[in-house]
Amino acid sequence: MDIKKFVRPNICSLQAYEAKEITCKVKLDANEAPYGLSSRVLASLMSPKSLRLFGGLNRYPDPEAKSLKKLISRYFGVRPENILHGNGSDELIYYLITTFGGPVIYPVPTFSMYGIIAQAIGEKKIEIPLDEEFDLDISRILKTIRKEKPRLIFLDSPNNPTGNCFSSERILRIIESTLSLSIVVVDEAYQPFSSRKGFLPLLEDYKNLVIMRSLSKIGLAGLRVGFLIADGEIINEVNKVRLPFNLNSLSQAIAIEVLKDRKAMQRNIQLIVSERKRLFHELSKIDGIKPYPSEANFTLFRVKDPDRICKGLLKKGVLVRNMKGVVDGCLRVTVGTPKENRIFLNALKEVSSKA
Ligand SMILES: *Cc1c(COP(=O)(O)O)cnc(C)c1O
Repeated sequence: MDIKKFVRPNICSLQAYEAKEITCKVKLDANEAPYGLSSRVLASLMSPKSLRLFGGLNRYPDPEAKSLKKLISRYFGVRPENILHGNGSDELIYYLITTFGGPVIYPVPTFSMYGIIAQAIGEKKIEIPLDEEFDLDISRILKTIRKEKPRLIFLDSPNNPTGNCFSSERILRIIESTLSLSIVVVDEAYQPFSSRKGFLPLLEDYKNLVIMRSLSKIGLAGLRVGFLIADGEIINEVNKVRLPFNLNSLSQAIAIEVLKDRKAMQRNIQLIVSERKRLFHELSKIDGIKPYPSEANFTLFRVKDPDRICKGLLKKGVLVRNMKGVVDGCLRVTVGTPKENRIFLNALKEVSSKA
């Protein structure tokens, strides 16, 4: 029996997302935060209240994640009705494309999940290359919008893997030109690390604007918690395709504990931002290496021989991401702890001097 014959063609041609586990001492390949839960949060997880939670795992989680949403709503200054919770923002991308369909437009290079999920669902995807500065090619995007009438547009800002924010003015032009045509999703997974304002303040003005946020890059990648923030009507429609118990009890409870201490979270973010600046400065000084400015928790950098450098780094225990096929000639490194960054920089200096 040929199983392939039973598989829908769009799935047949899809590649499974490669998330290989490579053992290393210093893991700087996945844009995770280098800091785990604080001792305060860990202690709270040992409290009688938490033990009751573990004892109650025979019950389903709160399908509406009410307590968590309440906290998030205070965090962002929006109403709970304007929030939808996801098992990571990956799941929310799935829900958005399921709800609104395609064509789905996004600039490239960018986060790979928009394209993978559009294809998995069987919707048309349209990729528009970024310009020389890694900014939006606005005339080409507007032209494509007129021609293709997309239902969804994904804009990742700060953009993974390039690290820059797109010009706010260009994002605004896209939102304004699609008011009665498309939903524009601004993926702000890296916004906490950015010096720019972000699009949350504009939600009131544009009904077709959706903001996507995630806790993954600010310390909770293992929990799988993401959010949409948007007009109530959009939230209601997307909520129809949400699996009822998509966010498990432990993730809800731990996210609440972590978010309660906003100061601690802010401190970690500040540390990462200042290390990012130092990393950029140090990378610029190394012969044959060109780092790109970043507003995120990672830095893209150009090297002469990416394959050799990547392998050389791994031999020294440092794992970074080779962007071959995405941004040829570049590697992407996550900002780690000061110690991890030091190990990375020293390894890179050694490997790149041995041409
Ligand atoms: C990492 C990342 C996400 C986060 O996805 P989660 O499913 O929340 O872990 C979303 N968007 C972009 C651009 C990312 O890089």
